[in-house]
Amino acid sequence: MKQFLPLFFLLFSLLSANIYGADNVVLITFDGLRWQEVFSGIDENLATLQDYSPQSDRLMQRFWNESPNDRAEALLPFIHQTVFTQGSYAGNRRDNSCAAVSNDWYFSYPGYSEILTGVVNPSIDSNNKVPNTEATFLELLERNSLYSEQTAAFASWDVFPFIFNVERSAVHVNAFSTEANPADNHEIFLNKLQNDIPTPWSTVRNDAFTHQYALSYLRREKPKVLFISYGETDDFAHDGKYDEYIFAANRTDGFIKEIWSTLQSIDQYRDNTVLFITVDHGRGEEPLQSWMHHSSLQATTRANSGLAQYTEGIVGSEATWFAVMGPGVARNGQIQTEEGCITSNRIAATLMEFLGEDYRDYNPAMGAPIQVLFD
Ligand SMILES: [Zn+2]
Repeated sequence: MKQFLPLFFLLFSLLSANIYGADNVVLITFDGLRWQEVFSGIDENLATLQDYSPQSDRLMQRFWNESPNDRAEALLPFIHQTVFTQGSYAGNRRDNSCAAVSNDWYFSYPGYSEILTGVVNPSIDSNNKVPNTEATFLELLERNSLYSEQTAAFASWDVFPFIFNVERSAVHVNAFSTEANPADNHEIFLNKLQNDIPTPWSTVRNDAFTHQYALSYLRREKPKVLFISYGETDDFAHDGKYDEYIFAANRTDGFIKEIWSTLQSIDQYRDNTVLFITVDHGRGEEPLQSWMHHSSLQATTRANSGLAQYTEGIVGSEATWFAVMGPGVARNGQIQTEEGCITSNRIAATLMEFLGEDYRDYNPAMGAPIQVLFD
């Protein structure tokens, strides 16, 4: 019997290994970063108009190039050089690759709820702080003992505790506020800095804090499922600051690079983690000033939306993009979408499938996994 034991353990480990991809997934969102910048880099008009880009010289110096590809790579070097080349991506509408939300609103709560729950619930129709009636895939996994206390979410926007329904979900959520129970001196220091540095917006904090709290938790608690939502891109865009929107996008690319290199430095995650990056909505393109906004016609016609002059809504703001890499992810590069767009309601089931979990065992109403992403 003794000589068969190694064989037995080998067989056992083969059988119990995840045949789908990975034991960990990390989902990261940029709030409202347009596919136009992701695939073509900075927009020359917006980057040279003083009203939108008072730091135009610096912006052009750092990110301008005649070639759209080179511009895009200068803006988001990690996503272009690492994620796009090692995995799959979609959303470049100028190149027959289409991704979109399938909710009716084209703003944040419905967008994040669609991504995270896989369900488009018509009752989710505002950014109000209402506990989500749908369950995120993190919450669904928490109900499985394999994932109990193994999910966490970090976000800059203060609505995320409601999107994750923290009263019900058992997901660890740190959003907008400092860490209520700092675990070590580093988090005590982060809390002090966040309290002492002016927060630029009333409902969104600086992404650097979201990033540092997430890194700290990742290194210490090592959750199997991690969500990080960076928010500055959207708020600088609403403020009409194109230069700051671009600098924020570039910083966030660097944050994601640091998350990835941290993952690869930890045994649990190395070569065992799928990274998925996407956005909650797009923004306008025509007329030029509509880059600041995002909203469906249905949403703009609501009382006091402030966007009544856009009689067709913010055209194109349903457009999204995504990129994914890691074990089990097909190296398609750009995905061509001949028929229709790939919708955000399929992301949650896709990530569950990379973990080896069938979404139908959790919530059959979710959008089905994006099969082309599987190796
Ligand atoms: Zn948003």
